Amino acid sequence: METINQIRAQFSALQQQVYGKPLVYFDNAATSQKPLTVLELQQRMSSGINANIHRAVHKLSADATELYETGRDEVRKYLGADSREQIIFTSGATASLNLVASSFGHQFLKNGDKVILSEAEHHSNIVPWQIICERVGAQIMVLPVNIRGEISVDQFSEMLDEKVKIVAITHASNVLGVVNPIKEIVQIAHSKGVPVLVDGAQGIIHCDFSVKDLDCDFYVFSGHKIYAPTGIGILYGKKELLEKMPPYMGGGDMVDTVTFEKTTYAPLPLKFEAGTPNFIGAACLAPALQFASSVRQSAEIKLYEREMTAYMIKELENIEGLTIWGNPSNRELKIPVFSFTVEGTHPSDLAQLLDKMGVAVRSGLMCAEPLIRKFSAVGMVRASLAPYNTKEEIEIFIAGLKRAIKMLR
Ligand code: PMP
Repeated sequence: METINQIRAQFSALQQQVYGKPLVYFDNAATSQKPLTVLELQQRMSSGINANIHRAVHKLSADATELYETGRDEVRKYLGADSREQIIFTSGATASLNLVASSFGHQFLKNGDKVILSEAEHHSNIVPWQIICERVGAQIMVLPVNIRGEISVDQFSEMLDEKVKIVAITHASNVLGVVNPIKEIVQIAHSKGVPVLVDGAQGIIHCDFSVKDLDCDFYVFSGHKIYAPTGIGILYGKKELLEKMPPYMGGGDMVDTVTFEKTTYAPLPLKFEAGTPNFIGAACLAPALQFASSVRQSAEIKLYEREMTAYMIKELENIEGLTIWGNPSNRELKIPVFSFTVEGTHPSDLAQLLDKMGVAVRSGLMCAEPLIRKFSAVGMVRASLAPYNTKEEIEIFIAGLKRAIKMLR
């Protein structure tokens, strides 16, 4: 497909060989490759526009600040948020989740309160809540997923009582690749006055949405999974909540005035941006999200992604003894993230053999140990696709997987 070839040409990392074989990069849910526009800005800033932001009057600092704030504008647009004050730069989804758990928890959680998480959460949306719950004496309630990897909205409704102070749930699981009914969850939670945090680490890549339409109270994601560099992430939050929450970290740039007796804080979003941020990473979110927008707006690429997903499922289902985990009844809710186990083989052996064939996949617990254990697995193999992957690559992967299974049985 011509469009896909044009897209591929923008990703130099995809042109390389590993072990003398063309790289098939199927680990996109872990991190994506970066287009030339992102690499060029990263290089241009590192080599030329390298000055600390918000602090100095000189030209270089002004230029770096402008690029940093342009990154914020681009994120606001991409998320469909009302204002730039709602867009906070962090170092990644994990940092954003820790920020909310700690700061929201400090302000709003007390002994006997409850936090609802789904069973399909990444460790980054479990452990920060455990830390704060342990500190204040609150309790985590787990919303189960069924064998298909779906949650039940009715079950969720039943769990909501007056003790629940927040719901933290993934937009789409990094293991199951199943999109959760976030809008319904938010509506139900809001009917009881409970805010909802959405972990968008995977959803940001594959779901067409706006935070205004979802009406969620917090949305977090990492830049590196959506074509930007590592070390930059986003916390979107509703202003009325962010304003009530205490700062997470103290330091430069997040203050208004400082005396030894008392410090007053800067307004949003700077209140939550202590210290020198990753200003190059933040600036690079602009070209990264421009690329992501062009993909999101293309009906042709959307259709292509659906076809690739259907093709992958068909090919995997044809392999004897293979189980795909995450099979929503509504196939539209499956993003191209395919975790599976194969009878008589260990996931890490399969991943290692595939690696030697030039195919990069993830294996293991995928930072979602409770979910993997629920399905009685020691681990899983995960192949995750991006719009720059091709049908030919799926064919190489499937042929390699069949060979690996034969070698191991
Ligand atoms: N949540 C989900 C669903 C994820 O997939 C990931 C990354 N695998 C994270 C949170 C954490 O992201 P990061 O490591 O970039 O902070």
